[in-house]
Amino acid sequence: MGGCVRDLVRGVEPQDYDIATSALPADVQGLFPRTAPVGASFGVILVIEGERRFEVATYRTESGYADGRRPSAVEFTTAREDVLRRDFTVNGLLLDPEDGRIIDYVDGLADIERKVIRTIGDAGLRFAEDHLRMLRAVRFAANLKFAIDPDTFMAIQKNAAAIRRVSAERIRDELTSLLIHGGARPGIELLAGSGLLKEILPEVADLKGVDQPPRFHPEGDVWEHTLRMLQILSNDAEIPVDPCLAWAALLHDIGKPATRFEDSWGIHFHGHVQRGEEIAAAILERLRFSNKETETILSLVSHHMHFMNVREMRTNRLKRFLRMPDFSLHLELHRLDCVGSHRILDNYHFCKEKLAELAAPDLHPPRLISGHDLIGMGFPSGPLFSEILKAVEDAQLDGEIKTAEEARAFVMKRWGTQK
Ligand code: ATP
Ligand code: MG
Repeated sequence: MGGCVRDLVRGVEPQDYDIATSALPADVQGLFPRTAPVGASFGVILVIEGERRFEVATYRTESGYADGRRPSAVEFTTAREDVLRRDFTVNGLLLDPEDGRIIDYVDGLADIERKVIRTIGDAGLRFAEDHLRMLRAVRFAANLKFAIDPDTFMAIQKNAAAIRRVSAERIRDELTSLLIHGGARPGIELLAGSGLLKEILPEVADLKGVDQPPRFHPEGDVWEHTLRMLQILSNDAEIPVDPCLAWAALLHDIGKPATRFEDSWGIHFHGHVQRGEEIAAAILERLRFSNKETETILSLVSHHMHFMNVREMRTNRLKRFLRMPDFSLHLELHRLDCVGSHRILDNYHFCKEKLAELAAPDLHPPRLISGHDLIGMGFPSGPLFSEILKAVEDAQLDGEIKTAEEARAFVMKRWGTQK
């Protein structure tokens, strides 16, 4: 049923198998030894077979949609009625497991053939029932590399403002899917063309027309630069892209529109990284990202310009930079940033070479001295401790000291009088 039949028809391995049946939830629970009532009131039972899980849903219709988000009532019914409540024709196919036949009540096979996303029934009505479907249409078109049927697309343009009534979590999850499963560039372009982008991510819509110095950005404005990065990132994403990397690519220059200024020297974006962090933080909070994801994405945004300086960094600073959590994501964001503009990859290769040269203990050397040792040496504990310990590690990372003895001598020489 649904997405998995669509994928089977396209010759793609489905992510999961959804099963639809005329059997009532209680009967499904009686037939299989291990089940869980994940959505019993909607008629959905999870059947557990060893490592595998299948969602088994009783054919149902939905009605109500009083809040434009979720149905207020369901009723069990026939296969055909169940198909008619679904969003797009390409998601409305059934596969009969008895004989392998595809049951197509909505011309879904023809639309897969034509590569078109089209609502089942009147687009305006279907979007009024559930506004999230507008975003899903764009997400499926992007990921499947399909077009959106003109009537369906016009209905999105007409109703785009209603997307704001959908919960932030549902919007976030559809956007993430759009970004990580391939076709992120056409996806963002469709969001812009449909009017959805300025409703849900106006800050991204504002990147359009923000021109930049051609010397660093021969590709064009900030919008074009960002889209190029997304294109390289998710071109034929067979393996899903890391979601934090995808969001960071989308948001890395989000501070540019607000910080752009031009004088006789040219165009500048002073402070765009810091401003970008603030704007990105507000977006991620609005979309209710977890603390962990927010931290990773903001860290990617915040460090993306530091790659410019890697060749001038002192050894200890460089090593601290290279050992940052998720450094591979930082490095990949930098690569996208370069390939999506001037294509000069010197700093990227420099980091790669350094990482290849350095063994794990070079980046994370064993601690030579502890706070406990400092107390033993007669230092009163206090804020000076962290300064001393940092300086010791810096000297160690710079290769100036290697043993505990040398560390003690280093401390006594610099701070001996402060005991
Ligand atoms: P994916 O491969 O990305 O999981 P999918 O088609 O399986 O795609 P799901 O979001 O998992 O998408 O939904 C499963 C099926 O449920 C869809 O194929 C569609 O038939 C139906 N569906 C999901 N959300 C809606 C909705 N908002 N309105 C109507 N039908 C929906
Ligand atoms: Mg699915």
